Amino acid sequence: MTDCIFCKIANGEIKTEFVYQDDAVVAFRDLNPQAPHHILCIPRQHVATTNDFQPEQAALIGKLVLAAARIAKQLGVAEDGYRTVMNCNRGAGQTVFHVHLHLLAGRQMHWPPG
Ligand code: 5GP
Ligand code: ZN
Repeated sequence: MTDCIFCKIANGEIKTEFVYQDDAVVAFRDLNPQAPHHILCIPRQHVATTNDFQPEQAALIGKLVLAAARIAKQLGVAEDGYRTVMNCNRGAGQTVFHVHLHLLAGRQMHWPPG
């Protein structure tokens, strides 16, 4: 996608420090953090929303979660706890239409979420 900000981050067009990267996933700090640690894990490949994932992308979805777990360990928050969130469409608050798994940690999370 030419006009997608997260595609531009993933392909290096917008210079961003990655906290994690592999062949399928990159992760970087959120511009407007909602917790002491707020990381976005995104697929390199453009997928607009979780509604658009195809069955053949099941492994990719798994890689997003595995990346988040790995980063949580790296940050030292895995045992204390962290939250992962994927907002789908505007009703859930999605504002960037390239799927991303939020990893939030470093403070007490509340339930139900807002
Ligand atoms: P959403 O609301 O779609 O679930 O989450 C989008 C997230 O992307 C927001 O938390 C927002 O702060 C973050 N974000 C938007 N644009 C950029 C950007 O250019 N760089 C980074 N690092 N984060 C961004
Ligand atoms: Zn994209």
